[in-house]
Amino acid sequence: MLAPGVRLSDDIATREGWDDVTDATVDATFMGTALEAAKRAGEHDDVPVGCVLVENGAIIAVGENRREVDRDPSAHAEIVALRAAASRRPSWRMDGVTAYVTLEPCVMCAGALLNARVARVVIGAMDEKAGAVGSRYNVLSDPRLLHEADVTYDVRADDSVRLLSEFFSPRRG
Ligand code: ZN
Repeated sequence: MLAPGVRLSDDIATREGWDDVTDATVDATFMGTALEAAKRAGEHDDVPVGCVLVENGAIIAVGENRREVDRDPSAHAEIVALRAAASRRPSWRMDGVTAYVTLEPCVMCAGALLNARVARVVIGAMDEKAGAVGSRYNVLSDPRLLHEADVTYDVRADDSVRLLSEFFSPRRG
């Protein structure tokens, strides 16, 4: 299943530097799906964070933060998505999978992405207070740990920040 709106047109492919253009467009599109999941989290009063897992250009799982609605401290968007993907795959291993996350993963989620062997993580906004992929810690690029992932930052960060600010706005409700 291809994400809606993903089109790799021949027109783009004939232009010089099309690899970069295409990668950035694809990243922005999948992050859009993660942002929709984040919005759903906000609708059930969870902090709006979303995660999409992609393999070979296709979405294999989508997760939104469900900590409050499920009363589960581990139900962050990344964990929800990883569980959904693993339940449909022959293995828990996420080799070759890219995770799109609207907010920099926390220590728990960075650890889960690492343990799942996710190949690449694409991040929207940074979490300077609790982020574990560059802000407070750098769990996904630590040679002392068992796995490292490629990381891309700042993909639709403004959209993610807007969702979070609206959620935490005192005028809400
Ligand atoms: Zn987390």
